[in-house]
Amino acid sequence: MMLDKVLIANRGEIALRILRACKELGIRTVAVHSKADRELMHVRLADEAVCIGPASSAQSYLNIPALISAAEVTDTSAIHPGYGFLSENANFAEQVERSGFTFVGPRAETIRLMGDKVSAIESMKAAGVPTVPGSNGPLPDDEAKVIAMARHIGYPVIIKAAAGGGGRGMRVVHSEAHLLSAVSVTQNEANSAFGDGTVYMEKFLEQPRHVEVQVLADGQGNAIHLYDRDCSLQRRHQKVLEEAPAPQIDERARQQVLKACTDACLEIGYRGAGTFEFLYENGEFFFIEMNTRVQVEHPVTEMITGVDIVKEQLRIASGEPLSIKQDDVKINGHAFECRINAEDPRTFMPSPGRVTLYHPPGGLGVRMDSHMYTGYSVPPYYDSLIGKLITWGETREYALTRMRNALDELLVEGIKTNIDLQKDLVRDANFQQGGVNIHYLEKKLES
Ligand code: ADP
Repeated sequence: MMLDKVLIANRGEIALRILRACKELGIRTVAVHSKADRELMHVRLADEAVCIGPASSAQSYLNIPALISAAEVTDTSAIHPGYGFLSENANFAEQVERSGFTFVGPRAETIRLMGDKVSAIESMKAAGVPTVPGSNGPLPDDEAKVIAMARHIGYPVIIKAAAGGGGRGMRVVHSEAHLLSAVSVTQNEANSAFGDGTVYMEKFLEQPRHVEVQVLADGQGNAIHLYDRDCSLQRRHQKVLEEAPAPQIDERARQQVLKACTDACLEIGYRGAGTFEFLYENGEFFFIEMNTRVQVEHPVTEMITGVDIVKEQLRIASGEPLSIKQDDVKINGHAFECRINAEDPRTFMPSPGRVTLYHPPGGLGVRMDSHMYTGYSVPPYYDSLIGKLITWGETREYALTRMRNALDELLVEGIKTNIDLQKDLVRDANFQQGGVNIHYLEKKLES
């Protein structure tokens, strides 16, 4: 039995994306929004809308009691958390289910297991997923042991907080002289930022690419992968431009890692959509973390596989077994996604305000996922993502040509955006070649 009514516990483009999937499946929708978000596109399109609090996300989109009450008054059957906000909060998933609603995502214990990086790495290692050489567990209290460990792994090493996230709580160490102080600083930081001072050690890879694997599992013994994406173009650990499939990957290593990911899903009884994130260097994959939710960049995978990932999430949450078999999933062509942010292209400072003109591009193989419209005011309180431009082509080159043309057609006036940066990136000779590493964009911005 398909879910009857879904509450969308998010905002912006992903809320609209989820609403569209619900409508296609005949599921009724409840939009929840803060006082600053009354004008959001999906709020107009939803069957019902509930204001859950003031502008501050702490009092609205992160307010668990307000969300559960909204689900109760609207007689909702399930809650879709989107990405960000409460999507990887195990306590939220637990409270949703305890209150009698379905959480569109994995079980709370899976979220908890993957939310702690040490336990995530341990369980992935046990399931046969390749991990970064490292401490394979929390660092011991014994200083001599920590020093010996780093010598054995070989410098540079990186000290990371088990509870870290969003690129915070990590420190690179280049020599033994700085090791112990780096460990204690990271521990202290982790304690105050995440309330958990546990840290671990990994080999610091110097020129890796960020390659990730999309999976779908029904929690009933079926798991498939939807191939990989390359998200190496990042600034301050924020992805800027993504593509699928990842170009120039060793085919044997790829097949091995794809299989390891689906095996791991079965091993941990994974349910829902998920992403295994890897660093890829010299033809080898190294697991760094798993995201237990839909990701911003999921459309590039949809474009090359034809699988609607959000609809699959909703089907899985309804208790249906996976409708697709691994053999049915074929890569067709290539896709790119440019994140469009309301920000100053030079300083990267957020640039909220009224959009005086919005003209999205069009044509075959062009997709724009955005909640923007002419006259929409981008509020200053949230993430600066205002849209995602996705293009598809039979080949990488063709998809990239389409992206160049689509970016030229796209008009967003009244606020500052990063569109010019994206136009520059898709004309960059090294990016056109494919396979640049995670430091490439920052180095380019510095020069
Ligand atoms: P977070 O959860 O904060 O995003 P991750 O473990 O995913 O943390 O790491 C974020 C980023 O930090 C990676 O995308 C990569 O750029 C860098 N990083 C993490 N671990 C390593 C490593 N062992 N070697 C090199 N870079 C790393």
